[in-house]
Amino acid sequence: MEGCSNKVSRDSHPMDSIINVGKNTIGGNKITIIASPCSVESEDQIVNIAESVKLSGATFLRGGAFKPRTSPYSFQGLGEPALELLKIAREKTGLPIVTELMSLAYLARFIDEMDIIQIGARNMQNYPLLKELGRTNKPILLKRGISATIEELLMSAEYIISEGNEKVILCERGIRTFEKYTRNTLDLSAVPILKRLSHLPVIVDPSHASGLWWLVEPLSKAAIAAGADGVIMEVHNNPTKAKCDGEQSITPNKFDKLMKSLRAIANIENKEL
Ligand code: PEP
Ligand code: MN
Repeated sequence: MEGCSNKVSRDSHPMDSIINVGKNTIGGNKITIIASPCSVESEDQIVNIAESVKLSGATFLRGGAFKPRTSPYSFQGLGEPALELLKIAREKTGLPIVTELMSLAYLARFIDEMDIIQIGARNMQNYPLLKELGRTNKPILLKRGISATIEELLMSAEYIISEGNEKVILCERGIRTFEKYTRNTLDLSAVPILKRLSHLPVIVDPSHASGLWWLVEPLSKAAIAAGADGVIMEVHNNPTKAKCDGEQSITPNKFDKLMKSLRAIANIENKEL
């Protein structure tokens, strides 16, 4: 990847890319904090969490409407009604929305109504989907596949950029290894490697990387210290009752404390948070 002419490559674009999302930017000097529950469960839940994380300094709101669950019998997300609830939360807080797209059937709606389209680990190599996204002008948050190499992640980003859409944000969310204690193994070295190979912003997901709420704090601190452009994490007001991923969700209180530490680390790195 070094010394190659792919559009994702730093050789083809030496400066860091800064992605514009409405009046917000991702990358460059800025640390982006994307927070909220794994899935949207109700209007009260999403609005309540959105208001708390906004007060603590989150810059984007995440929330799943369509959930890629291992079992078809697990909660699959509220689907389209959740998009309406996300819009209500955006209206009340001003936080732009990040949510996962799994099917092209909803692409037009996501383009019109959402701010960033998340492509989850399971779809990182869904090339027809990536090509379609490349023909849009929408910011794409591309998560690393569960068993994908760094080069495969970059080539997936290339699928989007080669079609014309340069607004890609890369996300390291842990990979599958022999280690069973954590849900995945956070590949922290992917952060400086991706930053060296590519000009695209890189964010880290400590929630899916670890599967454990108490690892979210140390892993997100390490991510910012390692040069990540931000973190995406799961926050829930009642983690034990969460419909999805409660065991890896931190409470709004813990999120508030964590933001203070992340701000201090961002400061040392000469970045804005
Ligand atoms: C998610 O962000 O809720 C998610 C399902 O993540 P991943 O695709 O990384 O597993
Ligand atoms: Mn989740």
